[in-house]
Amino acid sequence: MEKFNFNAGPSKLPREVMEATAAACLDFNGCGLSIMEISHRSAQFKPVLEETVALVKELLDVPEGYSVLFLGGGASMEFCRVPYNFLEKKAAYLNTGTWAKKAIKEARMFGEVVEVASSADQNYSYIPKNYSIPSDADYFHYTTNNTIYGTELRTDPESPVPLIADMSSDIFSRPVDVRRYHCIYAGAQKNVSMAGVNVLIVKDEALEQVSRPIPSILNYMTHVQGGSMFNTPPVVPIYTAMLNLRWVKAHGGVAGMERNAHERANILYDEIDRNRLFKGTARSEDRSLMNICFVMNEEYKDLETDFLAFAAERGIEGIKGHRSVGGFRASCYNAQTMSAVQALAQSMKDFEAKL
Ligand SMILES: *Cc1c(COP(=O)(O)O)cnc(C)c1O
Repeated sequence: MEKFNFNAGPSKLPREVMEATAAACLDFNGCGLSIMEISHRSAQFKPVLEETVALVKELLDVPEGYSVLFLGGGASMEFCRVPYNFLEKKAAYLNTGTWAKKAIKEARMFGEVVEVASSADQNYSYIPKNYSIPSDADYFHYTTNNTIYGTELRTDPESPVPLIADMSSDIFSRPVDVRRYHCIYAGAQKNVSMAGVNVLIVKDEALEQVSRPIPSILNYMTHVQGGSMFNTPPVVPIYTAMLNLRWVKAHGGVAGMERNAHERANILYDEIDRNRLFKGTARSEDRSLMNICFVMNEEYKDLETDFLAFAAERGIEGIKGHRSVGGFRASCYNAQTMSAVQALAQSMKDFEAKL
């Protein structure tokens, strides 16, 4: 049976990207060795890193004066590394959910953190609006897509200070005005590659402006100067990122990804809104195109496990919602197919008809 993978992360990658990764794990470019067993400084690997950097720059239209880095540690590492490198006195943070809260917690260790707004009052089901950002903050940090709660801010917000964003779960799904950012970061396992590497875009001029000493490995400048080779980078995840970004480019770049994302999300949200059994959990205008969260209406609540089983019989995997929202979450990152989304919408229709 064909499987439709809706996992929230690690998540679906294009089949051809996984096949090419698997092949390189056995014999890399016909060199007779695995990509896992050659030096990251070898003549074979160097072009991989170079091409991956070039693809990030091309796809997101990264201007001069910015560096692209590939670092280990997961997005959670950047919750600490960002304030270490950019917070001198005060930073502004938008609290839109679990990941934003974790970023705030780390930043508090480095200076004053102003939480400009929070949607905690309604279980993070919306994106706060009409907040004001202090103009003496070093930066404004926000999470573009709230993976757990299914809300998303798909436009770069207005801010009197430079932006820093956690784009872990929607990077490369839309164009971004990189000029407005000091730093963009993303763990790879949602929209870029397998787990194990972070993609970062940092503004060179904004580095080394804080007065505290920074341990080498945590200092972004170390990695800018070392070209992501200060120590051994996660070579296989970088290789997979290269293959996946080639795939993004071949499928219309971020504009193409954005069109597909709208198309997929429309199919699912239309069905959620039409179907008497289900309702969406996020406020309509803030709904994520990437993580589509929904629950069963009160009177059908006890049917949630039945629906999970019903969907599983149709090959639908990974739609159980995060425990803090419950219900269901259909993650539709770049590699998600229209046929998977149609299969899920159809199973919702069929389940309703069966009652
Ligand atoms: C998954 C996720 C993280 C955490 O990523 P790790 O790589 O597990 O540290 C952070 N932010 C967002 C928005 C996420 O979706």
